This record gives sequence, C-alpha cells and structure tokens, in this order.
Amino acid sequence: MNLFTDNRDLRFHLEESVRWERFAPLWEDGFRHPDGPASLAEARELYLAGLAELGEYAAREIAPRARAIDEEGVGFADGGVVLPRGLLENVAGLKRLGVMGLSLPREVGGQNFPFTAGAAAMEVLSRACTNTLLLYIFHQAPAAMVLRSGTPDQVERWVRPLAAGEISGAVAMTEPDAGSDVGNLSTVAEPEDGHWRLSGRKQFITNGGGDMCVVLARSEAGSRGLEGLSLFVAPRREAGRDNYRVARPEKKSVIRGSATCELSFDRSCAELLGARGSGFPQILTFMNEARLAVAIQGLGISQAALAAAQAYAGRRVQMGRPIARHELVADMLLDMEAEVAAMRALVYRCTQLHDRILGFERGTRAAGGGGSAGPPAVRELARLKRQLRDRTPLVKWFASERTLWVARTAVQVHGGYGVVQEYGVERHYRDALILPIYEGTSQIQALMSLKDQVRWALERPWRLLTGAVSVEAPPDTLGDALREMAGEYHRALRYCIGEGLGVAGVLSALRSREPDRARLGYALLHAERLCLMLAYTRAAEALASHAAASPERRRLAERFVHRSLPLVRMHGEIVCSGDRSTLEAIAG
Ligand SMILES: Cc1cc2nc3c(=O)[nH]c(=O)nc-3n(C[C@H](O)[C@H](O)[C@H](O)COP(=O)(O)OP(=O)(O)OC[C@H]3O[C@@H](n4cnc5c(N)ncnc54)[C@H](O)[C@@H]3O)c2cc1C
Repeated sequence: MNLFTDNRDLRFHLEESVRWERFAPLWEDGFRHPDGPASLAEARELYLAGLAELGEYAAREIAPRARAIDEEGVGFADGGVVLPRGLLENVAGLKRLGVMGLSLPREVGGQNFPFTAGAAAMEVLSRACTNTLLLYIFHQAPAAMVLRSGTPDQVERWVRPLAAGEISGAVAMTEPDAGSDVGNLSTVAEPEDGHWRLSGRKQFITNGGGDMCVVLARSEAGSRGLEGLSLFVAPRREAGRDNYRVARPEKKSVIRGSATCELSFDRSCAELLGARGSGFPQILTFMNEARLAVAIQGLGISQAALAAAQAYAGRRVQMGRPIARHELVADMLLDMEAEVAAMRALVYRCTQLHDRILGFERGTRAAGGGGSAGPPAVRELARLKRQLRDRTPLVKWFASERTLWVARTAVQVHGGYGVVQEYGVERHYRDALILPIYEGTSQIQALMSLKDQVRWALERPWRLLTGAVSVEAPPDTLGDALREMAGEYHRALRYCIGEGLGVAGVLSALRSREPDRARLGYALLHAERLCLMLAYTRAAEALASHAAASPERRRLAERFVHRSLPLVRMHGEIVCSGDRSTLEAIAG
C-alpha cells in the first residue's frame, strides 16, 4: 500500500496538471543551489519521489496507528500534556524521513519543497491519521511565522529546531471572550527591560503543550479592536521553570489525539515578533495559510472516507449483489468521488496560486528588495493575490462542509458497521466536525467572502451590471453550466446589494467605495448561501479545467457540474425571494 501512489486523482494533479514551471524555478533559485535540484525535471522528480516515500511510510506505519491514537487520546500528568504513544512514534518516523520542515527553505534546515508538494504530503498524512498531520503542522506553521517576521537571531533560535522536528509549537489567538471576534482579545503585553511580559488567557490552543507559542496580544495600552495588537514568541520554559501554565487538555469528540489546551499567562516572558502594532496583518497572513491547510486536512479525511466506502461497498453483498451495484449506493459513491475530485481541484489551484506568490516574494527578496520587480510583474502579483483571496474562504468553506458530508455518507454506506470503531469511518466523521469550526468558522468564511465580493463589485460599478465574478469556462456544455452558475451568483449578490442599500445607498456606496454596513443586513442573512454558490462555482471551474485531459476527467467534471448547477439555482431562488422574516425576528 502507498497512500500517494494509490491515489489516481492526486497523482493526476501532481504528475500531469500542476504547472511546476511557473513556480519551481523561483522556489529553487533558478536551480543554482548546490544542494538542490539542477533542473525543472530533476525538481519534479525529487518532489514526486519524496511523496511516494512518504506515501509508503504513511500506509505502513502511520495509518495502522490512527485508531489507537484516537482511542488513547491526550493525557495530563505532573502539570504537562501526555501525547499518545503512537503519535510520538509517527512524528519520530517523519523526522527520520527528513520531512519535518518540508516546505521551509534549505537555509534554515528545511527541504524547500514548494507548498503544492507540501500540500500533497499533508493530504497523505491527514488521510493516514489526521492527528499526526496536526502535530506535524505545528512544527512548520510557527516556524513559517518566525521566518516571515523574525530577526536573524530569532530564525536561528526558533526556526531551525522547529524545522528539524526537535521542538514543536503552538499559535494562540483565541480567548474565552474572543473567538470569531478576534478584536475583543484582552491578553496584554507590557514592555520590561528589553523584553515583554504577557498576561491573560488563551483558549482552545492546539498543541498548547508544545515548546513555544506564538501569541497575539494587545501591546498598545488603550487600543481597541484589531488595532494595537502585536505578535510575540513565548518559550514554554524560562530559566528552568514553566513560563506559562498549560491546563489539562479538553476532553473532546474530535481530533482526540491532538492536545487542545487553555494557556494562562501571568507576566510570562516573551519576545516581540515582527513590527510592534502589526499583529493583526501578520496573523491574517497566517490565518489565510491555515485556512488552506484546514482544506487540505479535510481533503485527506475525505479521501480516507471515500476509499473506505468504496472498498466496503465492493465486498458487502446484500440481496444477491455487492451493495456498490445497488442504484442508491452507487449514486452515493459516485457523488462522493466527484465531490472529492472537485475539492482536490480547488485545493491544488489554490496551492499553486500560493506557490506563485511565495516564489515571487522569494525572488524579490533574493534580488535585494521590493524595488527590483517591474510594473508587469507587480500587476501579475496583485492579480494572483486577488485570485487567492477570492478562493481562500471558499476552499476552507467547501472542503470543511463537504468533508462532513463525504464522511457522513461513508458511515451510511457501511450501515451498522459505520458506527463501529473498528471500521474507522465514524472517526473520520467525528474528526470532520472540527473543520467548519477552527481557523474561522464556516459563517466567518462566508462573511469574509461576502465583504470582498461587495467591495470588489462596488470598486468597478459596471460589474453590478456585467457580472461580479468571471469564470474560465470551456466552450461546451460544461462551460454553459459554469457560466450559468456564475450568473446565478451575480444575480443573487446584486439582489442583496440592491435590497439592502436601495438605489440611494448603492449610489452613495459607489461614491465612497464602502457600503453602509448597517444596511447590509439582508446580504449578511444570506452570506452563507452566497458563499455556497460561489464555492461550488469555483470548485466546478477548477474541476472542469481538466475535463479535456481524459474521458475519466470529463466524467468527473460532468457529474459534479451538472449536480451543482441545480443546487446553485435553488440557493439563488432563496436569496432572491426577499424573505426578511429572520431580520424581523431579530429586530429590536
Ligand atoms: C479543537 C480546536 C482547536 C483549536 N485550535 C486553535 C488554535 O490552535 N489557536 C487558536 O487561536 N484557536 C484555536 N481554536 C479556536 C477556534 O479557532 C475557535 O473555536 C473558533 O474561531 C470559533 O470561536 P468560538 O469557539 O469562540 O465560537 P464563537 O465565535 O462564539 O461562535 C459561535 C457560533 O456563532 C457564529 N458566529 C460568531 N460570530 C458571528 C457573526 N459575526 N456572524 C455570523 N455568525 C457568527 C459562529 O460561526 C459559530 O457558529 C481551536 C478550537 C478547537 C475547538
């Protein structure tokens, strides 16, 4: 078994569809690095060989331990978190494979794989054991934050050991009274003798028992909301003592092998990370990457659930034939397959956008700063950033919500055995429940998407007439369906803007480029429906873009597109119904 090579759809993306030439040369510094690949072909071969090796290890060692990790859960002894034994064995194995800093630069001890290759590794790990993926991520994620904003000394002290897998970390934003409302956080940071002291409580922190924590705190006295925040690095231990208190991990039904802890800071020692007062933009960059990572996590869980359902349905015989041959079950399996393929197409479209942006930024840094890129390159970068920003809340929303459906359907395909622990699919379903909650709930993704789309529509007023989003649509029936989906979205968005703002409001918003938020209640009410419509449209667009590659890919795209269109139409109808009963219920 190999969890990379056995996955035809994933291999199609990595081997045939990913445009490595667009970003690998930037990541590999023009193939000049003495320890790196010497050409594009060599780079591609290196990434694929690395993934095949990881896929083999994941199947042989990691997946067999997933159930025991879930059953054992996370413990607490002598004031410290105790991780499941299998989880530690898995991470030790990944360390031996040399992949702990897979997408970090070679200069800091990483393997310098582009994010797209790193994403495939994350997908494989999540499929094998999503708890293992989480601990793996909490080496690279804090490292990437320190690398992005830290001083050379901080990079040396924190990034190297994280990339080597010698220490792990956490990222702490959420507080008891600041969940979705990040601006309500009250952890304070006060300067003292060239250091900082943190005081406050952080809630639900993944891998909170790790060796360090990147903390978002209020550094500017008297500031409010998202202003006056900074990022800090707090070591778990300082001068031989605990620097902050880690409470007993939450007992939970999801990702049971991952420690979710409350952290208490009482004048804990910390160092500033990046510019003072720039905490929110920095954490936003992290959150956007983390949202993509959650989508990849979902994709891995979906693939695990799909593979289990397909295998079970092939061998379970009822009424004289395998259940896979009964119409209703066959329909479920084919829908699951198409949904997972659409999810994957959207995910790898996003990872490639991310890689091109990161590659461009690396190239600019290597050339000695921002002034080196000419206007066309700067325009291209802005275009890529806009495309990724458009898709980030959508991919997070789509992969989270649809993984729940895929995992739930896998349970259904298994009948009574679906809820028996031995079969694994009930674990996938439980684990899937976390996806629409962390890194911004599905509702927050919907609000983010709505806010951007309204602003972009008002930025170029003619878009209110011609269409808010453009799609790449092939010149055939698939393309017709895609154009109709985009048209439905546009009609619904325009209805929401008009319904909320009225003609006078639209004209005033066009003048100020900013709509009056108080009048957007109707749009807010339908934000998640709009998000669904656009997410399905973007997923369908990504899947349809490969339809010409083979009859198999055309079949997948047709199934997904032709089943998504009626769904998008239905939600469009609800949005354009003008039903304001919810708004009336909460008025006053
Ligand atoms: C297992 C786990 C691991 C986590 N790991 C981390 C971590 O490592 N670091 C970290 O900082 N945080 C972490 N979190 C916290 C997580 O990001 C938050 O739980 C999440 O952001 C939601 O916040 P909340 O739980 O306070 O819910 P709330 O914000 O109270 O939301 C409750 C409900 O109200 C909805 N809602 C809230 N505001 C609005 C609005 N304006 N419009 C519409 N609907 C709204 C939400 O969508 C949700 O349905 C973790 C949480 C869990 C459960």
